[in-house]
Amino acid sequence: MVIKTAEFVKSSQKWQDCPEPTMAEYAFIGRSNVGKSSLINAMMNHKDLAKTSQTPGKTQLINHFLVNENWFLTDLPGYGYAKVSKSLRKDFEKLITNYILNRQNLVNLFVLIDSRLAPQKIDLEFMQWCGESNVPFSIVFTKVDKLKAGAADRNVEAYKKELLNTWEDLPEIYVTSAEKKTGTDNILKFISETNQF
Ligand code: GDP
Repeated sequence: MVIKTAEFVKSSQKWQDCPEPTMAEYAFIGRSNVGKSSLINAMMNHKDLAKTSQTPGKTQLINHFLVNENWFLTDLPGYGYAKVSKSLRKDFEKLITNYILNRQNLVNLFVLIDSRLAPQKIDLEFMQWCGESNVPFSIVFTKVDKLKAGAADRNVEAYKKELLNTWEDLPEIYVTSAEKKTGTDNILKFISETNQF
């Protein structure tokens, strides 16, 4: 897919405030610092469409972007902040889960995972919740340029193994680097192939 236009639409504090669900929507989520903003910017060929390195704990918003005047790209706030209070964490979780479960035009959720880390409980739990809630999602491993090829493969395999403990099938997996722009075309290809709106 060629990105002709990518523009910010609005920030919303709750799913009810999101833009009218008139087009297909693809959302991106992951823990703070996973490389979500960098990946969105790399996919959109844009330096600072999504703001990088937001401070965790600040007001968390759902950011909508309109791509090629044809589909929404959604930048969701991160889950599992270690450094914020429990009640604030609960608020984030509610915002995210309400959005995911209620957004009718959501075609797919891309769950970003730092390829440098061994499987993390919080990520596994989140994916488990997606599976149990019938949320269509894919896994996107980020920052793969930071690792030697073998090490990235080992971490991807470790995640697969964990997921196959409870599931028969695996979701679609993308291995990406925002820095080198690898894997981003595959995500865009998936989006253009599944956008039936
Ligand atoms: P976010 O909090 O998930 O939006 O993460 P950011 O996009 O702000 O990235 C967090 C940090 O990781 C920043 O210092 C980025 O420069 C760095 N980073 C993000 N993606 C990549 C990547 O693909 N390769 C490398 N080497 N660094 C990355």
